[in-house]
Amino acid sequence: MQREKSDQLFKIAKECMPGGVSSPVRAFKAVGMDPLFIQRGQGARIYDVDGNEFIDYVGSFGPLILGHSHPEVVKAIREAAQNGTSYGAPCEKELELAQMICSAIPSIEKIRFVNSGTEATMSAIRLARAYTGRSKIVKFEGCYHGHADSFLIKAGSGLLTSGVPNSAGVLEEQARNTLVARYNDLESVEKIFREEGRDIAAVIVEPVAGNMGLVLPDPDFLKGLRKITSYSGSLLIFDEVITGFRICYGGFQDFAGITPDLTTLGKIIGGGLPVGAYGGRKDIMSRVAPEGDVYQAGTLSGNPLAMAAGVATLKILQDRDWYDRLEVITYMLATRLKTVFEEHGFFYTINRIGSMFSVFFTESEVKTYEDVLKCDTAKYAQFYRHLLEEGVYFPPSQFEVCFVSCAHEMEDIEATVQAVARALDKMA
Ligand SMILES: *Cc1c(COP(=O)(O)O)cnc(C)c1O
Repeated sequence: MQREKSDQLFKIAKECMPGGVSSPVRAFKAVGMDPLFIQRGQGARIYDVDGNEFIDYVGSFGPLILGHSHPEVVKAIREAAQNGTSYGAPCEKELELAQMICSAIPSIEKIRFVNSGTEATMSAIRLARAYTGRSKIVKFEGCYHGHADSFLIKAGSGLLTSGVPNSAGVLEEQARNTLVARYNDLESVEKIFREEGRDIAAVIVEPVAGNMGLVLPDPDFLKGLRKITSYSGSLLIFDEVITGFRICYGGFQDFAGITPDLTTLGKIIGGGLPVGAYGGRKDIMSRVAPEGDVYQAGTLSGNPLAMAAGVATLKILQDRDWYDRLEVITYMLATRLKTVFEEHGFFYTINRIGSMFSVFFTESEVKTYEDVLKCDTAKYAQFYRHLLEEGVYFPPSQFEVCFVSCAHEMEDIEATVQAVARALDKMA
């Protein structure tokens, strides 16, 4: 694989950008190599500056459910841009997207657009704190909710329920207000609520965990969270930044039959442009300024280009056949991959739902964050590097999810299976 140009650019980038990147995972540290500079994306494929071509399973880490550069989305962005890129005033596309999302996700009665998932979750907990008059939040180990201070918290030592900072620059004071429970472990949540229930404003959870690799919720886990929060007067926040419009048209909540109080969205609803949103029950959302007393604002929020890309994307996805197709094609891929891994004698687990999947190098099932930590990340790194040589672009970390898009064809699946087989041959 040629990579002179990427290497050259990365060397310069490191001089003027921390780690040479705008977001840490892009530096490829977890897979022990330097990143490739991408020149363009088309459908299911991306092309780097050295002319290498890859079948892409990253999809910009979630937004690109239609694949790269979908003609309808590009057309919508182009048309919007011709009328100006930002007004700092309401526009019709914004209303159109709001209505589409509110009717697709019934628990969202009112919605506020922001510019990233991080802003959405950060604003949602501010709102939850205002609404309940309580200070603490509960999050789960291994779930990611963006990089606001309140979420960069990991579990403290055994006896403490409150967390400790996961990043320099996050204050201990902040960590005291974030309690960390274990995903798929209701008992860990009950314990926290027994001790601190009256101070808990909200529980925030990824209804399907997609930031520790793919970990599916046990059937009773989300139901249990709904019950505990309702009983205790805390709000339940579903962080559907990844799962929104990924598994079905709407939220995973509709698929699971659970109604959260607030939902955060991002990724797919922006069609590849920077967007986030939070929404939920009317009485809660009415507390957001200017209707209410919870301040939250944004110069570029509801941006016409981003709204146009979101509307164009959701319009296509309204044809639910796409979800059936994604299900079938990803099921085929996962099934074929299982055979290949078995033929090569590797211990592995593949978790999958809809068009999301993760390949874990481990002997056991992966149902908790503890299971995730047992995976052989060195082996994943080795697998990753060989697979890249074979023309398949997986996420550069064991803990990120692979995404299949509507642009992936059966030929791509077949080519991917062959590439994985060759990568495993080299590892044997
Ligand atoms: C990506 C992600 C975020 C953060 O979104 P950004 O747009 O990167 O700020 C929040 N929550 C979840 C579940 C995510 O996957």
